[in-house]
Amino acid sequence: MSETLFERIIAREIPADIVHETDTTLAFRDINPQAKVHVLVVPKKRFRNVAELAEEPQLLADVLSTARKVAELEGIADSGYRVVFNTGDDAGQTVFHVHAHVLGGEQLGLFGRPTGN
Ligand code: 5GP
Repeated sequence: MSETLFERIIAREIPADIVHETDTTLAFRDINPQAKVHVLVVPKKRFRNVAELAEEPQLLADVLSTARKVAELEGIADSGYRVVFNTGDDAGQTVFHVHAHVLGGEQLGLFGRPTGN
């Protein structure tokens, strides 16, 4: 398995704006934010996607706990936020090291089909 971009961020080989870290997870700002708050949460251990991560329920729970912590740290826990795992081609997954997108800080748009379809 070749190394992904996010493994290089976890190893601190590539810089990232880190928001929070635990023994098993790392949270850092998305380089191309889609909302005022846009943070990625990754498990330090590599899984390709959330379907594979579901084989390790404690680690999946760790990722979601870190997402909750990020929301608290970013001040969006009460105003609301979205947690998204893009999985596979149709969802537009581009980095094959599972990551939760934590989005918020403003009213978010609808999602699903591209507008106009
Ligand atoms: P995906 O499309 O796989 O669900 O999400 C990958 C995300 O990684 C995208 O939102 C993209 O902006 C983000 N990303 C890509 N390269 C980098 C990078 O070098 N640093 C950071 N912090 N985020 C990145």
